[in-house]
Amino acid sequence: MKKRIYLSVPHMGGDEESFVRAAFASNWLSTVGPELDAFEGEFAARIGRPCVALSSGTAALHLGLRLLGVGPGDEVVSPTLTFVASVNPVVYLGARPVFVDADRESWNMDPQRLADVLAAKAASGRLPRAVMVVHLYGQTADMDAIVACCQRYGVPVIEDAAEAVGASYKGRPAGTLAPVSAFSFNGNKIITTTSGGMLAASDPAWVEKARFWSQQARDPGIAYHHTEMGYNYRLSNVLAGIGRGQLRVLDERVRRRREIAFLYRDAFADLSGIELMPQAPHGLHTNWLSAFLIDPARFGADRDQIIEALAGENIESRPVWKPMHLQPLYKDAECVGGEVAEDLFSRGICLPSSSNLQEDELARIIHVVRSVARPRP
Ligand SMILES: *Cc1c(COP(=O)(O)O)cnc(C)c1O
Repeated sequence: MKKRIYLSVPHMGGDEESFVRAAFASNWLSTVGPELDAFEGEFAARIGRPCVALSSGTAALHLGLRLLGVGPGDEVVSPTLTFVASVNPVVYLGARPVFVDADRESWNMDPQRLADVLAAKAASGRLPRAVMVVHLYGQTADMDAIVACCQRYGVPVIEDAAEAVGASYKGRPAGTLAPVSAFSFNGNKIITTTSGGMLAASDPAWVEKARFWSQQARDPGIAYHHTEMGYNYRLSNVLAGIGRGQLRVLDERVRRRREIAFLYRDAFADLSGIELMPQAPHGLHTNWLSAFLIDPARFGADRDQIIEALAGENIESRPVWKPMHLQPLYKDAECVGGEVAEDLFSRGICLPSSSNLQEDELARIIHVVRSVARPRP
């Protein structure tokens, strides 16, 4: 069997171990310490906003939604085309998601559909508590249109920038385009702390509130006094050390992920019916995952046949995210539109995208995809 090629794996830069060793040397082996402070400081400096390091991106979304006051009975609008972790925190807080279809320009939440939803909700006298924007596969959503629409109704926005570390929109970093945002450093993301996340907010008081909640909401003093509900959501000082090393190579990781996407695109340029996901002109798309859309009639095989052919060569590939409105978990949730997301799901494929992919591995992947295509007449 040929060596397995995975979809997206960690890629250390080289400095991580020295920061981890520093954590061991100082014996700060818990959820406080100098590596954590430094990681937060360096990340904050990069995006230009205060932030708090957490145990996962999901935890950051949970706290971010709570900062926006989301609670029992509320509605939160989110795209249907996303990973389930965007939406579950809505339910953790006792609220209900309302799903909105994707647009074909960016694969993100369709601003026109969002405007329709908010107009209808306003007319019924019940606005959602928040709108969750997801920057899918490292491409920012059309934020100007979305923010303008939300401002019209006074509905706050939260950014799920889990997949968009290093991405930008009109020159501004993803995760600084709304009052509060969440990033992920899970092992499959563009940089990793093995598991981890970051919450950023425009208001430093919000970041401090999230930090407080993430440490069991223990009131000041030594007496274990609690007035609010908290969580055990802090990142470890050891893992923050990994994050510091990863942050040093983030720009290089973005460059390589983009390069891989464009290498695939160019290698398939002479084939019909296989197209790289759109690269919207409004920002830097990291192409965290190289996602392609297949037109089976023109390509000569459908998406699942490509996945099977790759699997036969020990190469991992995946469908595009399965929309939330198709999940048994969310079958009763309201969804506005959904046809675009369903189409992208049924024809979309994510190819191996690790920044440490070798040239011979890329050649193997390209060869298999090309081998199932029907040659152009
Ligand atoms: C990975 C991911 C998350 C969750 O991040 P974790 O760090 O794994 O908890 C949330 N939303 C999206 C869109 C993601 O891809």
